[in-house]
Amino acid sequence: MAISLVDIFAARKNIMDLVIRTPLVQSPDLSKLAQTQVYLKIETYQKTGSFKLRGATNAIARVKPGQAVITASTGNHGRALAYAASQHNIQANICLSNLVPGNKVEAIKASGANLFIHGDSQDDALDYAITLAQREHMALIPPFDHPDVIAGQGTIGLEIIEQLPETATIVIPLSGGGLLAGIAMAVKSIKPQITIIGVTMDQGCAMHTSLQAGHPVNVTEQPTLADSLGGGIGINNKYTFALVQKYCDTTILVDEPAIAQAIVHTYMVEREIIEGAAAVGIAALFSGQLDQYTQNGPMVLLLTGKNIDMHTHAKLIAGTSRIST
Ligand SMILES: *Cc1c(COP(=O)(O)O)cnc(C)c1O
Repeated sequence: MAISLVDIFAARKNIMDLVIRTPLVQSPDLSKLAQTQVYLKIETYQKTGSFKLRGATNAIARVKPGQAVITASTGNHGRALAYAASQHNIQANICLSNLVPGNKVEAIKASGANLFIHGDSQDDALDYAITLAQREHMALIPPFDHPDVIAGQGTIGLEIIEQLPETATIVIPLSGGGLLAGIAMAVKSIKPQITIIGVTMDQGCAMHTSLQAGHPVNVTEQPTLADSLGGGIGINNKYTFALVQKYCDTTILVDEPAIAQAIVHTYMVEREIIEGAAAVGIAALFSGQLDQYTQNGPMVLLLTGKNIDMHTHAKLIAGTSRIST
């Protein structure tokens, strides 16, 4: 494998200045529900509102001086890359599909990056980024299938083990799998007995479908509250598919009403604003699908991002919109 624990420790040094060590806090309410200690790793406190700042910052630290960078992103990676690039005086170019919500488009624009809106899926936007990267000699930093990105996300795994050595289970929102691959590699290299669970929405879940097939497959992207989990894993996936196949103990699917309920619960009870992608772990807990793991000991759920459209959030809280995006 082209990436190892050493790369994750190196990433931790590279990202120290821009990325915070996020709190891991016990949720009394969820602990009571699960009858075990449930902890929340609150990545929403990162500067761009999601953990994606870790991988983007690590990748930017390794770009040649003066070279521009380009990516395609469902929003959070683009936003993180734009911010990390601006901190290093590097020009960022971000390709988005028409599915990306307006609040995320505005945030990326405000960061000073060049913006390209292309196609109706994350895969279209990525194809466009690849074309531009070759033509303009830019460094392509994709949102998940890149060793520096995976290593950056893996720093979360190091923190969890230090903050709660007795962790038994880590529940991770799963899309392209950079987050899960990085954390799982860090964690399983140090404590192989920890169980790693990937959670995703039941509509258009590319990694789950690919794992079932035994190879990367295309899925049709669907509108979902968990918009940051949309998009394929790439038919020519180089890193994350093999790593997730190796390290992920199981995958769990949750539906749209469960994601909506988890966003509302997290606001009303935990008093945190999270986006749909970050809500899938709590949704899985509510659905009973984590019951068989709670007896093993403390469980960590990742709150991965908070960049939800606030009008959507307000409607969910008011109960006027349970599932529409
Ligand atoms: C990108 C993202 C994920 C999933 O990460 P992958 O590396 O693509 O699996 C989860 N939650 C949020 C908020 C994200 O932005």
